[in-house]
Amino acid sequence: MSQYEKKQSKTARKADALRWNRNWIAIGILLISCHGLCPAQDTLATPLTDQEMAGMLRLSEGDLPCMISAPHGGRQVVPGVAPRTGDGMAKGASGFFAGRDSFTEELALQVIDCLEERLQAKPFQVISSVHRKYVDFNRPVDIAIESSRIEPLYQRYHDALASYANQIKQRFPGGLLLDIHGQGTRRDLVYRGTQNGRTVQRLIDAFGIDAHSGSQSLFGMLQQRGWGIYPIPLDGKEQAGFTGGHIVRTYGSHTPFGLEAIQLEFGADYRSNQEARSKTAEDLADVIIAFLDRYHLWHRVAAPVDLGPPRPDRTQLQGSGR
Ligand SMILES: [Zn+2]
Repeated sequence: MSQYEKKQSKTARKADALRWNRNWIAIGILLISCHGLCPAQDTLATPLTDQEMAGMLRLSEGDLPCMISAPHGGRQVVPGVAPRTGDGMAKGASGFFAGRDSFTEELALQVIDCLEERLQAKPFQVISSVHRKYVDFNRPVDIAIESSRIEPLYQRYHDALASYANQIKQRFPGGLLLDIHGQGTRRDLVYRGTQNGRTVQRLIDAFGIDAHSGSQSLFGMLQQRGWGIYPIPLDGKEQAGFTGGHIVRTYGSHTPFGLEAIQLEFGADYRSNQEARSKTAEDLADVIIAFLDRYHLWHRVAAPVDLGPPRPDRTQLQGSGR
């Protein structure tokens, strides 16, 4: 072997060794990645812990026969859960949809603040800060989630609704559940969703149809404050797609939970900036108070309809009646 050949052979051996090392490095990286990935995949299937769920929902017991729910306004990411895809599911009104109802979390909180300011008492609250792309609390569970990891969060939202509904039932003669949403169909309108009166059945039975669709109904009173509402007239059919979803259907007064359950679908004019939200929240808080008063939801004893100023005192709030 010539000097030149020896040199060539040495170079070739070096190149082989280098390739050999590179291959091992690649295999090593692959093994490390797999080792790193496999436990991560386990994590994906691990249900969210209490610690991980902290801050994802605002759940709070109240002092009033009123509950505010807002399932679609959140922005938070859920670690270890892929966004839902809706593959193979029906889309739309009662099917899969992952879009946020923007500013409805903020609006719900403002309504709660206004009620507390006026009454020195709080409504019950169940509000999501999580983005709808991970979970849809206003759908049955088979449409709501696509990862078992997030199931405890879905369950927690509904456990709170159920438990608070039962507390209201024990403490008061009735209760009002407002489920706050946003729609992009008409910015100047707020749509009522009660399954055309079904989710407020007890109210209608007790006070007649006007309690649902008259001028002193919740939406009638909002209309008197200049709100653009639907249906018009109030006893017309509710808009298809906004007739009330899983939450009002599950906890409404046609069910054993017994709450007068109304879904409100706000157009952008009512929620898209701070000024609009403040006006909306103040009007809605006033009308909620008038509604609770007019339909005796916070009196334990039956009383004649009192059309006086809707400002109950603390003794009424404590359920002692008048
Ligand atoms: Zn919604």
